[in-house]
Amino acid sequence: MKMNKFMLKMMLKMMLHPMAYTCRDTNKLLLDYVEGTLAPEKRRKLDAHLADCPECQAFLATYRDTIRLTRGALPPESEMPPELRTRLVDFLKNNGA
Ligand SMILES: [Zn+2]
Repeated sequence: MKMNKFMLKMMLKMMLHPMAYTCRDTNKLLLDYVEGTLAPEKRRKLDAHLADCPECQAFLATYRDTIRLTRGALPPESEMPPELRTRLVDFLKNNGA
């Protein structure tokens, strides 16, 4: 029986995944990524992960919206929407801030 090379590669990638890049890493790197201060090497890893992880893509989009909304896109007197505040607080908690 011949092992398909591509399959083997995929299996290896899955087995190694926990030690390599995970979605948790995205959480950790996202702020720097959005700020543009992320080291090029880490940025490449994040980009590569984003390319095939729809969950992280969605997370990044949400995070960008959050940043935009909390940085003066809203008039100063407006309240942050409660749902957004909850999400932001959760995000910061998860990242040990
Ligand atoms: Zn991911």
